[in-house]
Formats: sequence, structure tokens, C-alpha cells
Amino acid sequence: MERLTTDQENALFSCFNIFYAKGGEIWVRGGGPYPEYQDVTLVQWIRSAAQKHGLNIMAEDPEHLGDEMYDALQDGDETVEGIVALLHAAAVQATEMRERLKPIEDILEDDYDLDRLRELVEADREGRCRIHPKPENNTCGSCGHFQRILGRRCGTCDVHSKYRDRYGRVDDRRGAFTPPQSKKACKSYKPREE
Ligand code: SF4
Repeated sequence: MERLTTDQENALFSCFNIFYAKGGEIWVRGGGPYPEYQDVTLVQWIRSAAQKHGLNIMAEDPEHLGDEMYDALQDGDETVEGIVALLHAAAVQATEMRERLKPIEDILEDDYDLDRLRELVEADREGRCRIHPKPENNTCGSCGHFQRILGRRCGTCDVHSKYRDRYGRVDDRRGAFTPPQSKKACKSYKPREE
């Protein structure tokens, strides 16, 4: 599963990241006027919309806007203020959920497997997890050519794709070479580049 949260404006999933939190406020990415379309706070965005369309919303600051939106929400779709209030509620929800999800995805990185995560959490709850030490120096796991296979302690090697026998000959019968990360380095070992 590809991560959804991102701060890159041109990313595929930027539509899931329009609202974000900064400095204790909700911001609207690209919500400013033409031609810069700079990021603006939700308060600024609603205040500007209210002024342009003659709405009964002052939007002085986040706290007062919250009160105004709570009242307007009771109007439902009977007033434009009520519709803006629903938009405000959606922005608050989207921001809260994004800011909760983002640190989780920062840990999991760009691609993760929910079934594997569920398995790990269940195993941890049941006391079946054991944390192994980090790979030692000069092992496959600390090598720049090692690509770990998601959810496993082994990976593929950019240099060798097949197993070799003791004489260095490729052994096709054993399939793809997937060394464990604790395997001691071979001659092609290179430290990981930072
Ligand atoms: S140590 Fe050798 S076998 Fe292991 S990943 Fe690096 S290059 Fe491949």
C-alpha cells in the first residue's frame, strides 16, 4: 500500500493533502489568489470567501471562526454559511486525520503491507516478537547493494542475482539469491551511502 500523506505539491496523492497543520493552524495548500496560489490559513481562506460573497462570517481568528462555524452548521444547506460550515468541518477532519496518519507513514515509509503489520502487532501483543540487533558491519544488511524484502530478514543483492557454489560458479537450481541481512559480506561489499 502506497503512503497517502506527502508535502510534495506535485505528488500523485497531493489531493489528499490539501489541508495540513502548521503553527497550530489549519492551512489550505495553494488556497491563495492567482497568480501565486500561495498557501493560506483556513481562517484567511474563509474570511476572503465571506467578503467576496457577502456572507455573515467574520473569521477573525481560529477560535472565533470555530464558534461561528458551530452555529452555522445548524443551518444545514439552508444558508451558504451552513455550507461553508460543513466545508470547515471537513477541513478540520481531513487535517486531524492527515496529521495522525503522517507520522505513522513516516515510520512505515513509502510502501507498506497492512496484512504484515496486523500480523506483527498481533505477534507483539501475544509476546511472540523479539527484536534482533542491528546488522553488524560488513554484513549484507549494512551493504549498499542489499535491498531488503518487505517483511523479511532477507533481501536481494544488486550485484549477485543467483547463488554460487563453493567454486564461484552460478547455481541455477537454487533460484534467486536472497541472502539474510546478517550474512557476512562478500568481496563486492560496499558501505551504505548516506
Ligand atoms: S555483501 Fe555482497 S552479497 Fe551481500 S548484499 Fe552486499 S554485495 Fe550482495
